[in-house]
Amino acid sequence: MLILLKTEATVAEIKAVTDKVRELGFTPHEIPGVQRVAIGITGNKAKVSPDNFLVMPGVVDVVSVSKPFKLVGRDFKPENTIVDVGGVQFGGKEIQVIAGPCSVESRDQIMEIAGIIKESGAKLLRGGAFKPRSSPYAFQGLKLEGLEYLKEAAEKFGLKVVTEVKDTETLPLVAEHSDILQIGARNMYNFSLLEKIGELRKPVLLKRGFSSTIEELLMAAEYIVSRGNYNVILCERGIRTFETYTRNTLDLNCVPLIKKLSHLPIIVDPSHGTGAWDLVSPLAQASIAAGADGLMIEVHAHPEKALSDGYQSLSPKTFLAMMKQLKKYEPILERTIA
Ligand code: PEP
Ligand code: MN
Repeated sequence: MLILLKTEATVAEIKAVTDKVRELGFTPHEIPGVQRVAIGITGNKAKVSPDNFLVMPGVVDVVSVSKPFKLVGRDFKPENTIVDVGGVQFGGKEIQVIAGPCSVESRDQIMEIAGIIKESGAKLLRGGAFKPRSSPYAFQGLKLEGLEYLKEAAEKFGLKVVTEVKDTETLPLVAEHSDILQIGARNMYNFSLLEKIGELRKPVLLKRGFSSTIEELLMAAEYIVSRGNYNVILCERGIRTFETYTRNTLDLNCVPLIKKLSHLPIIVDPSHGTGAWDLVSPLAQASIAAGADGLMIEVHAHPEKALSDGYQSLSPKTFLAMMKQLKKYEPILERTIA
């Protein structure tokens, strides 16, 4: 349920409503927004009578919300959420590009690639340090050493750090070394991790699980937002289908659909979405044409030598060519590409 108050509602009127919600045994959520003052209610197992609130000063309407996701839904918050990462914004006019290798492999490797990312105009550097690999025998990442190299490279070139957090134990360490916490596809259903991240106020990149529906992705985001962390960026990274030519099937339907259902920004990862470097640029173009707020692209100075995901990684040359190609869309989309 959503309680709408007049724009000029006083602090005392808003407080009276939130107190009343608590008194009835539910949880109030003040929804950030400029167009109206809204308070969402969660935790109600049975229907709450709107009359409880309609009689209160400042309240103009009480709306029931039937969708399973509440706080991440457009019904609760009509205007787009802009996630601000130290001045780099997701969900606004600028389309952001997060680029870098699948894994941080050495200091030299990440330094070299960070220079290329900077040259391209992109503002965010990615690289995995704690890698959740499908095989226990595959390279698991450089862990703390990797985080330190990543942070050092990003600071040298003035880039923001995006890296994956694999579990609750390493969360404080990863949070300390990153600007955006990435939750990988394998962890989208890790509800204790989602809850812990919800308690922070740090930006989060939530990747869609490879067998998850759009509604399940939005419900995973709801876990984070319901704990007070509204800084969630969603990421489509392909889902498993019967198709075998590609690693995953990139579900671009979800971009305009999520824009309709949710106020959260959504970006696309065509690297994992296709698993093939030569499909990355065409699908990156399709993603921004569909309305994506950003892209995540794997880039490696020597893809043939990469310790993980080499085949889907762009070389510096193909990455810079893709960025040049993307720039051509700026006037059509009336957005800029960072
Ligand atoms: C990654 O970004 O390197 C990664 C492991 O992605 P995903 O969780 O989407 O497989
Ligand atoms: Mn990867």
